[in-house]
Amino acid sequence: MQRLPIIEVAIPVPLYKSFDYLCDEDVTIGARVRVSFGRKKVVGIVLSHKDKSDFKSLKSVDEVLDKEGILSAEILEFLFWSANYYHHPIGEVLTSAMPKNLRLGKPAEIKKARAFDNQIGPAEFEITSEQNNAIETILSAKDSFSGFLLHGVTGSGKTEVYLRITESLLKQGKQVLVLVPEIGLTPQMISRFEKRIDGTVVAIHSQLNETQKTDAYLMAKNGEASVVLGTRSAIFSPMPNLGLVIVDEEHDGSFKQQSSFRYSARDLSFIRAKLANVPLILGTATPSLETLKNVVDKKLTRLVLSTRPGTTVMPEVSLIDMRTQSAEALSLPLIDKMKRHLNNNNQVMLFINRRGYAPVFYCTACDWKAQCDHCDSQMVYHRHINRLKCHHCGVEKMPDSSCPSCKQSTLKVLGYGTERLEENLESHFPNTSIIRIDRDTTRRKKAFAQHLAQINSGKPCIIVGTQMLAKGHDFSQLAFVGILDVDVGLLSLDFRATENLAQLLIQVSGRAGRSEHKGEVAIQTRYPNHPIFGYVRQANYTKYASTLLKERQQTLLPPFSHQAMICANAKNKTQAESFLNEVAQLLRSIDLPTVEIWGPVPGVIEKKADYYYFNLYLQSVERKALHRMLNTLFKHVDNIKASGSVRWFLDVDPIE
Ligand code: ADP
Ligand code: ZN
Ligand code: ZN
Repeated sequence: MQRLPIIEVAIPVPLYKSFDYLCDEDVTIGARVRVSFGRKKVVGIVLSHKDKSDFKSLKSVDEVLDKEGILSAEILEFLFWSANYYHHPIGEVLTSAMPKNLRLGKPAEIKKARAFDNQIGPAEFEITSEQNNAIETILSAKDSFSGFLLHGVTGSGKTEVYLRITESLLKQGKQVLVLVPEIGLTPQMISRFEKRIDGTVVAIHSQLNETQKTDAYLMAKNGEASVVLGTRSAIFSPMPNLGLVIVDEEHDGSFKQQSSFRYSARDLSFIRAKLANVPLILGTATPSLETLKNVVDKKLTRLVLSTRPGTTVMPEVSLIDMRTQSAEALSLPLIDKMKRHLNNNNQVMLFINRRGYAPVFYCTACDWKAQCDHCDSQMVYHRHINRLKCHHCGVEKMPDSSCPSCKQSTLKVLGYGTERLEENLESHFPNTSIIRIDRDTTRRKKAFAQHLAQINSGKPCIIVGTQMLAKGHDFSQLAFVGILDVDVGLLSLDFRATENLAQLLIQVSGRAGRSEHKGEVAIQTRYPNHPIFGYVRQANYTKYASTLLKERQQTLLPPFSHQAMICANAKNKTQAESFLNEVAQLLRSIDLPTVEIWGPVPGVIEKKADYYYFNLYLQSVERKALHRMLNTLFKHVDNIKASGSVRWFLDVDPIE
């Protein structure tokens, strides 16, 4: 390669450009270099060699950190595509795709070669003909891009399909990338792969320390890892022999990154698979409407697993009309059902989507409520620490002993969270062990794994938890699931609320009855006539989704249109709002009639941690027009003098 004295470097700063440096050493594109930037030393990525620069006095690179590129040509192309699509600064995109140690400039060396004692064994059963059909169809598509929706009811054996396809591809020297939701990467999932795959399985998740994360990344990169199993950021894992991309539970919201570089790993999986020219599998029992539309548009081929294998049947779902029950969290019919299943030596699970003791701490005399001083939200009472906590900004305080407003001793809690439910259950079921799973009980490393191990021991118990329980778990002794407090989802203004609620109900129900016992599910609601429950009771997600899809088509909401959201926030409310008013004015001056501009409107929670949030929405049936408008915005936005300290960001394809 011809040696050129100038290199173009991407630097992790929120600026939409790269920077030139002098470098008289040989350096490969994609390598890391340490350079001075302002008064700081930073680690950047080499993008290209140049023979001239528009800038005169160039600084020299301090240190070349890699002999070979840490980011391969393929990953660079993928990251450029992503930066361009999400309109995010390339330097931040490139560095967010690497583990922290490499970002900091530490050597790209594997520290601890892991010792494996995989006891590999074959599956203990015959695959069903539907599984076989899915496996053969997908395998016949290898060596080229094609997308599949593996639409299998909960417990239908989707993981078994992934495993068999993976086994086959590994024999051809390929690597397989498996993305799972944040909380779906359970020890159980990892061990299922480790027990079956004759090769190195690396799991990338938040419980790893930085050395382990770097090792996993480097083992993917040098081809040593046969399978990379990870949460959303694993989509950026370098895999030279990539042969297949799998996104398990594709409908899950955690594939979307909701801070800094806001991307959807599910959406990016299409591009990753296309660039590598390999098949893509999106697997789920409850496909997102985006995915179902892709099936209609023939961008994905739908493969169905319609039943659970063997004698296992889908659970029976019933409703409990809470209008006829007392105001307690647990209705009498629910308690009866729980008793029945526990007496049969089975496990039961209660699902409530709120942690803490009680969501409201208030005065019975004057109606005063404990509010967060920094957010537009109510403080949640946590009993074990006797504190009021704000779940939005994390602030904690001691509860008052008398009402700050009327000074009487008339303060009480209202409503239920997991903690209070646990307490309530203890009084109804004094002799049964209760396992609570939420963010408060699983904060400690390994705590989640310990809880899961206790459940997997199979002894009768009551499991109480939040949506952490909704995903991917296969609890064989679980016979009954009770779902409390779903009505919030029916009253929400978010246009995706009913879609998400249906997914949640089906997924949570799907935890029940995974072995020979027929499972049972009971849902407590004050709206038993809502159409959603009819479909959930018949386990007919597909039919419900198609009615929702029709509604979206009529209202031209996503996936029948494309959205982007510009969010501004500032300590001064007027400044945040007027910044967006100016942005709106700029956007309206751009002649792109298919793009609708809506807002600014206050955020769902207007004030968070002392900052006021406003959103401006852009929507168009033409994706191209929307992105053209965003490009124009970025050319001119610097002319808008954001007064004071307004912070803002763009979210392409936002989800609330
Ligand atoms: P899903 O991922 O679709 O929820 P899993 O792959 O977890 O389903 O399968 C559910 C259970 O069924 C697992 O315990 C799995 O071992 C078992 N299983 C999968 N395929 C078969 C089959 N063909 N015959 C019998 N059992 C199977
Ligand atoms: Zn009062
Ligand atoms: Zn707060």
